[in-house]
Amino acid sequence: MHIVVCMKVVPRPEEVKVDLATKMLDRAGARSVINSSDMNALETALAFRDAHGGKVTVLSMGPPPFEPYLRVALAVGADEAILLSDRAFGGADTLATSYTLAAGIRKIGKVDLVLCGEESSDGGTSQVPPSIAEWLNASQATYVERLVPGKHGTVHATRVLEDGKETVELSVPAVISVVVGSNEPRFLDYDRWAFAQSAKVQVWNEKELCGDPQYLGLKGSPTAVAGLREVKKAGRRRETVTVTPDEAASRIKAEIDRAKIARS
Ligand SMILES: Cc1cc2nc3c(=O)[nH]c(=O)nc-3n(C[C@H](O)[C@H](O)[C@H](O)COP(=O)(O)OP(=O)(O)OC[C@H]3O[C@@H](n4cnc5c(N)ncnc54)[C@H](O)[C@@H]3O)c2cc1C
Repeated sequence: MHIVVCMKVVPRPEEVKVDLATKMLDRAGARSVINSSDMNALETALAFRDAHGGKVTVLSMGPPPFEPYLRVALAVGADEAILLSDRAFGGADTLATSYTLAAGIRKIGKVDLVLCGEESSDGGTSQVPPSIAEWLNASQATYVERLVPGKHGTVHATRVLEDGKETVELSVPAVISVVVGSNEPRFLDYDRWAFAQSAKVQVWNEKELCGDPQYLGLKGSPTAVAGLREVKKAGRRRETVTVTPDEAASRIKAEIDRAKIARS
């Protein structure tokens, strides 16, 4: 099987600021990392390939500085890496992002599985994987923690639901989003480091992608941020007291009762 893993490079959440004037995230001062659940998607793909054969290609949309992160994925075990990068892709909302990624997947050719993370740590909409499936007219499953081959070229995906699990059978091509923490991503392989450094990361621009320009970037993004407000997290209250266990129990009960009254 040819598996494509969509990998987003995101700013470290704790280093992102919100620009209330422009209603945009100010990522300028933030260092970047590979989105956490995308590492779980990559591990799922590599384990599937190692057990059943095939090839794993990592695909990202973003500016040229994302390239080294694709090399990390190559050092971890991916076979090929592609970066979709062009000013025309900038300012994309989830519709335009999914269109661009789907166009990249179409250009790759025969792809059986597309694995994504369940959500990004910056945008966090979880809309991109199902949207890619719609653009490609492919089967889809979200919040998957386990993926195994089924009969007649299908795959079986176990989904994590709020109150249980379900296993669905999907015909390929299929787009699957993988739950964060569903596996232990392997560490990068130092023997592959030299290969990863010298491997060609293909960079495709708007022209090479052959997509419809009206669906790309800001032009293809119907989403507008209507407003932003800061939500202050309630700080944790802490108090150190020296009391007997009975006194501690009655103080805790009193605090819980007070909180219940305040909430009602
Ligand atoms: C009006 C508007 C303007 C925006 N302008 C910008 C901007 O200028 N610059 C900017 O960086 N963001 C911008 N964004 C944010 C941008 O929409 C999202 O970052 C992007 O669409 C992905 O959505 P998400 O983060 O919610 O992905 P989710 O749906 O939460 O991601 C799920 C999975 O999809 C895959 N995925 C998502 N994005 C990518 C990607 N780029 N490459 C590979 N795989 C991916 C990953 O596997 C990820 O785990 C803008 C958003 C809006 C609404």
